[in-house]
Amino acid sequence: MEQGLPITVIGAGSNLLISDQGLPGLVLCTRHLRDSQFDVDRAQIIAASGEPIVRLAWQAAERGWSGLEWAIGIPGTVGGVVVMNAGAHQGCMADVLTQTEVLNLNGAIETLGLLDLQYRYRSSSLQGSDRLVTQATLQLQPGHDPTALLTTTRAYLEQRHTTQPYHLPSCGSVFRNPKPYKAGWLIEQTGLKGYQIGGAQVSHRHANFIVNCGGATATDVFDVIHTVQHRVNQQWSIWLEPEVKMLGQFPVV
Ligand SMILES: Cc1cc2nc3c(=O)[nH]c(=O)nc-3n(C[C@H](O)[C@H](O)[C@H](O)COP(=O)(O)OP(=O)(O)OC[C@H]3O[C@@H](n4cnc5c(N)ncnc54)[C@H](O)[C@@H]3O)c2cc1C
Repeated sequence: MEQGLPITVIGAGSNLLISDQGLPGLVLCTRHLRDSQFDVDRAQIIAASGEPIVRLAWQAAERGWSGLEWAIGIPGTVGGVVVMNAGAHQGCMADVLTQTEVLNLNGAIETLGLLDLQYRYRSSSLQGSDRLVTQATLQLQPGHDPTALLTTTRAYLEQRHTTQPYHLPSCGSVFRNPKPYKAGWLIEQTGLKGYQIGGAQVSHRHANFIVNCGGATATDVFDVIHTVQHRVNQQWSIWLEPEVKMLGQFPVV
């Protein structure tokens, strides 16, 4: 920091496309920060930033605490989920988070509430900021039947595995859904399922995923993204905005 190096914070990297040239400066990865606490009296989880959200979702369901079932199958850390306001099945981080603790570049710890985070669809005020999420407090609803919660959770997971390409590496949904449409449906209508550049392919299983069929470079993925944007725009006059975060150098288009 004293040397003025750029700093990038990453969690599990599950929503990232990182340039083939890599990233300049320091990259801080939070994946090993996993000392989460369960406050049984309040049904709260004080979740550490590097904790896989999926692990917390299973543990909450086992305790009969409802509120994190939606998170099953999201391969991110708590920090990444807080920053992205990740969600699924009509649930998202904004529904359960009460506050988050962040570390500023000057070394100060700050506590942010929901209003500070300005949560919207897959978006928060932390995106593009230089603050590192260290932990988040999640408020769940106790007193549910664990068996029922686990059944719902397993059903969500099964649904994902049948509709999304979990068998190949990807960075999740590539584009935001342009309301009222689903990005995957728009892409599918353009006939781009299976479209491939190098090792990067528009998934046959779900058109809003670009999978690495083997040896894909970031440039391959970027070129597929660009082609999809143009083809969808030609057919639907809609410019798809990426949900995936592109870090490092990519061509300006
Ligand atoms: C197969 C698959 C399925 C997915 N399904 C979904 C889904 O259903 N719903 C959904 O919303 N997303 C989904 N995703 C995308 C992704 O898992 C989420 O966006 C997740 O929240 C990213 O968490 P991460 O820890 O991997 O963050 P990263 O990808 O590492 O980072 C994402 C952003 O958060 C920032 N960041 C990460 N950690 C911190 C921290 N501690 N402090 C400050 N900034 C930080 C990074 O700088 C970056 O801007 C999916 C991805 C895959 C591969």
